[in-house]
Amino acid sequence: MNIALFGPPGAGKGTQAKELSKHYNIPHISTGDILRANVRDGTELGVKAKEYMDKGELVPDAVLIGLIRNRLTEADCKNGYLLDGYPRTIPQADALADILKEISKPLDAVINIEVSDEELVKRLSGRRSCACGESYHLMFNPPEKEGVCNACGAALYQRDDDKEEVIRQRLTVYNKKTKPLIDYYGNSGLLVNVDGTGSVDSVFVVVCRIMDQYK
Ligand code: ADP
Ligand code: AMP
Repeated sequence: MNIALFGPPGAGKGTQAKELSKHYNIPHISTGDILRANVRDGTELGVKAKEYMDKGELVPDAVLIGLIRNRLTEADCKNGYLLDGYPRTIPQADALADILKEISKPLDAVINIEVSDEELVKRLSGRRSCACGESYHLMFNPPEKEGVCNACGAALYQRDDDKEEVIRQRLTVYNKKTKPLIDYYGNSGLLVNVDGTGSVDSVFVVVCRIMDQYK
């Protein structure tokens, strides 16, 4: 099954994608995670991307389009994929359509996780992340031991872009550049809206009900 999880920063895409990827055995492709791994490794891409990420801006389309093309043509995507954080602009969505046509893996659905701005700010400011890819929330999903990842035991950290002033900028950028994709995918009949305000488990059940249709 070929799915894109869509929604503003903090909606719960990564949290859901991690579980969905295990449940359906399809790769979780998070462009944010790929970019952060490049920043950590100090690659040329990472050095360039960091400038934008730290300010809450989007990394240029050309960079993301090349990155997603490479990732989607890897062998593990042969039975499907779960996109998280891509596409984020109309040019990215147009490029994605071309790539998916070339590899004959068209999207089955774009699942839009809806959460109010007020809740997004709470979720992002309380998020604590681990280099292994796990993420937690100080109140909503705390780790078993304070400040320590349940999965790998490493120290948790707050992402630079989860600081209050950068959060506001990311939400502004979302509204201006990414939100128009709701109409884009609405018009193509691919969009399915999901209320993301319930618990992690209850949102998971609703998303699975949608994804089960494409098994
Ligand atoms: P995104 O990938 O969409 O930016 P995340 O999945 O990282 O968002 O979630 C943002 C924060 O909100 C994390 O700290 C996560 O633990 C928390 N979170 C995710 N889903 C829920 C939920 N349904 N209820 C409460 N908190 C949530
Ligand atoms: P995320 O982990 O999805 O919240 O992404 C973190 C940051 O990575 C974003 O604020 C952007 O700077 C960058 N990023 C991730 N995905 C994209 C994308 N599809 N297009 C442009 N920038 C992206």
